[in-house]
Amino acid sequence: MIPPGDVLIGQREIASRIVDLARDLAGELRRDLAEEGASLDTPGRVVMIPVLSGSIIFFADLVRRLPVALATELVSVSSYRGATTESLGASLEGALPGNLAGKHVVIVDDILDSGRTLGLLRGRIGELGPASLRICVLLRKERPRDVPVEADLVGFDIPDVFVVGYGLDYDGHYRNLPDVRLLEGAGG
Ligand code: 5GP
Ligand code: MG
Repeated sequence: MIPPGDVLIGQREIASRIVDLARDLAGELRRDLAEEGASLDTPGRVVMIPVLSGSIIFFADLVRRLPVALATELVSVSSYRGATTESLGASLEGALPGNLAGKHVVIVDDILDSGRTLGLLRGRIGELGPASLRICVLLRKERPRDVPVEADLVGFDIPDVFVVGYGLDYDGHYRNLPDVRLLEGAGG
């Protein structure tokens, strides 16, 4: 088992950045909803979709900061990893939520890395005809994407290193660490 290494982003820094992200996201949704004569309190307009399992901690903290009437749907994407930590592909597990047409959809993930996961989801969910579609990630790695995809809201840009904690795992471990840490000795 590779031990977790130095703290890259501490829990207080994460908590404070999430306040900003929630405020920015609520502001964007407020503008979209105002255009259709609705408000953040209008039920049935906003659907938030965490990408399992890495985003669960981030999602839980983010949605509790959002003063928005929202529904939650889950998606699961398996990414295939080569030796240790390199992303080789992504595929959807199970069906997509069926009720996204005309809704303001926000996909929430832990990290934008190769772009395969979020490229796949933006494409597939985009085909369902949402009124708007945004991607919100806690972390974005500074590296070329294998699949071009932009995140609309980003917590932190980080170097191309493998990180664990705050929902991110290594082989099922370390999701519960409160900080984002480097994984000692893991390749980028
Ligand atoms: P992608 O390469 O498709 O952009 O990212 C796929 C998934 O790989 C992410 O949603 C995340 O779950 C996982 N991943 C990517 N980079 C890291 C990392 O540095 N640490 C951990 N623990 N998971 C990562
Ligand atoms: Mg993931």
